[in-house]
Amino acid sequence: DTTHGAILYLEEISVVFDGFRALNKLSLDISVGELRCIIGPNGAGKTTMMDVITGKTRPTSGTAYFGQTMDLSRMSEHQIAHAGIGRKFQRPTVFEQHTVFENLELAMKLDKRVRPTLFARLSSEQRGKIDEILKLIRLNGSEHRLAGLLSHGQKQWLEIGMLLMQEPQLILLDEPVAGMSDAETARTAELLNELRGKHSIVVVEHDMAFVTEIAQQGVVTVLHEGAVLAQGRMEEVQADERVIEVYLGR
Ligand code: ADP
Repeated sequence: DTTHGAILYLEEISVVFDGFRALNKLSLDISVGELRCIIGPNGAGKTTMMDVITGKTRPTSGTAYFGQTMDLSRMSEHQIAHAGIGRKFQRPTVFEQHTVFENLELAMKLDKRVRPTLFARLSSEQRGKIDEILKLIRLNGSEHRLAGLLSHGQKQWLEIGMLLMQEPQLILLDEPVAGMSDAETARTAELLNELRGKHSIVVVEHDMAFVTEIAQQGVVTVLHEGAVLAQGRMEEVQADERVIEVYLGR
């Protein structure tokens, strides 16, 4: 078993753009049910890593395994999404002219496995699931509001909810608290802590206070120059001389 039971296993991934190594033999594994934070200075390769996992960028060398056997480096973006990797980009992309409820309903029904029911009435099970997600994303009571009228933070939560409706096996979040108020950031940390253990989640984030809040029981990976510089509990990586050096600049 090459994946060691991990849901995601990157094995010596390199990505070279015009001679520049954005990723340099990056190896990383994510366990089932883990909430992993990936940090690192600008240009460390975080976005490129997410692009490799989702099939947007092909690795120049190395292999990316998903589950026990799937080789992501041989799959298209579409195949990877269908296999159960869901990514939320930094900017929210909700259906602004639809209500919160309709957004969650659409997210569920646009899922390939459920699509034949697009025009059918919701089953009580489906409705129950929407209610559950509404509570989780702190939008119960606002389900009939137009998504376009939500705050930036609420749109971000709605999009996380839409992702969850599709029941991905691995969730990738690109800077989920960018542009959020302090109160919204704190609520997002609570939300992610509620998901801990139930979903496998990779979060790329710049906001260190936020990372500290969600990384309490988890592992933090620090990327630098396209590879793992340090990895461990937040207090360990924060105290690591090499990490301090790359963050403060030489
Ligand atoms: P991060 O997300 O950690 O800030 P990126 O993955 O965006 O880092 O970028 C890593 C490095 O690769 C950066 O130096 C960036 O300029 C370079 N890079 C990213 N995408 C491309 C591309 N399409 N072409 C050329 N260079 C790129």
